[in-house]
Amino acid sequence: MTDLQPQGSHFIGGRYVEDRAGAEIEVIYPATGAVIARLHAATPAIIGQAVAAAAAAQADWAAMTGTERGRVLRRAADLIRARNRDLSVLETHDTGKPLQETLVADAASGADALEYFGGLAGSLTGEHIPVGGGDFVYTTREPLGVCLGIGAWNYPTQIACWKAAPALACGNAMIFKPSETTPLCALKLAEILIEAGAPAGLFNVVQGYGETGAALTAHPGIAKVSLTGSVPTGRKVAAQAAGLMKHVTMELGGKSPLIVFEDADLESAISAAINGNFYSSGQICSNGTRVFVHRAIREAFLSRLTERLGHAVIGDPLDEATNFGPMTSAAQLEIALGYVAAGLAEGARLVTGGTRIDRPGFWMTPAVFADVTDDMRIAREEIFGPVMSVLDFEEEEDVITRANDTEFGLAGGVFTRDLARAHRVIGRIRAGSCYINTYNLTPVEAPFGGVKASGFGRENSREAINHYSEVKSVYVCLGKTEAAF
Ligand code: NDP
Repeated sequence: MTDLQPQGSHFIGGRYVEDRAGAEIEVIYPATGAVIARLHAATPAIIGQAVAAAAAAQADWAAMTGTERGRVLRRAADLIRARNRDLSVLETHDTGKPLQETLVADAASGADALEYFGGLAGSLTGEHIPVGGGDFVYTTREPLGVCLGIGAWNYPTQIACWKAAPALACGNAMIFKPSETTPLCALKLAEILIEAGAPAGLFNVVQGYGETGAALTAHPGIAKVSLTGSVPTGRKVAAQAAGLMKHVTMELGGKSPLIVFEDADLESAISAAINGNFYSSGQICSNGTRVFVHRAIREAFLSRLTERLGHAVIGDPLDEATNFGPMTSAAQLEIALGYVAAGLAEGARLVTGGTRIDRPGFWMTPAVFADVTDDMRIAREEIFGPVMSVLDFEEEEDVITRANDTEFGLAGGVFTRDLARAHRVIGRIRAGSCYINTYNLTPVEAPFGGVKASGFGRENSREAINHYSEVKSVYVCLGKTEAAF
């Protein structure tokens, strides 16, 4: 699989760059444990080179019309769509996610973001505000400068595109630091943007561990940091950025509630619970990992869920029939198995799965716990793996209180055929991204992001524009200017 080895670790100023002095990064195919590429973390020289290249490109890019910038982004979207299969195969190697998923959820979602924000770029205008006496204020929406994107390892292509598309549409340049676990996909986006006509240096990829992210965050040439990662990392990055008065977007973790009332369409609710716990082997921030099921339908829910999990096709992720792949890293597998052990130790009932699969790579079976109580670790802590907790409830008021009793606030869902109840309950769920009778859909047109410890700022939709630009107001006086003395 030597063809997965990129021509260099970093992509700066429109070309691959290498500096072997940086710490080695081994890229491992999660389905087999084989090393498929070797890269190097950025040295200070690489970081300096990336910031200089981005700053130089940004000035010219911001001077172009929005329509011209949008054209480049939309061309990049077309190129991604035309190469969807190759990019999906690469994403599968980077993450281990089944090709059945990556063909529809990764490069395709990235292309949507580039197309959407490419379409918006030409209409990012300000306001005209009359202020009396013929005077007026006009506003302009200005780019921030060089933005830093730091990515998690679960959706490397999507995360890079969700950050790059609005940033570039607004006239910024970007440096993207992927997780060292999945460093390959963002390099392809960098290649494609150049091919689409982006100036060299507009979108750069710098590889490295957490310390590289920290060094970039601290760099005076960086105006904004957008992180997708865990809450502990978010606290560190936000604190560092706050000290330097930089803009931040924080897309962090969750422990989201999915509430299934007794009148729910049971098959749909089970589909949502499966998607919201086992898609991408459960490695999704917005997953509904606390599934509150009304006591009247709990046993029917569990037995049908178990039956449907029996149809999971676990195996070679490159086989399109496979719908459940490995965990992305050995470390994440151990974390998930550790939570299975914790659930058993705390007295939850393991209904199915939760066992290590004895084959090379990082494999386990999807786990469902029942009789979970609110105080158990599996009900309180983000696992980021295929471990579903099913909790019982009887009263609407009680389940709302319990659903909100968490430090997180990323997502939430409710299943009921009662329209009034659906809106009443979802209206009281403290979360940024909510669902009624479905779960975990993230179209680019809709804002995405969390409240409380799950972060702040929003990705996607027009909302993202506010986080990659700032408003300048210009007061225009048509008369004389007077003074007291
Ligand atoms: P981490 O928080 O461990 O890492 C996220 C990124 O931050 C990585 O690129 C990491 O580098 C980097 N990093 C680590 N320390 C620092 C630092 N001090 N300064 C700057 N950058 C740093 O998250 P994971 O990669 O493990 O991803 C899983 C987490 O991401 C989960 O909590 C999940 O919920 C969350 N997530 C949130 C999403 C959302 O949109 N809300 C979407 C997807 C995931 P390195 O990997 O090299 O350490």
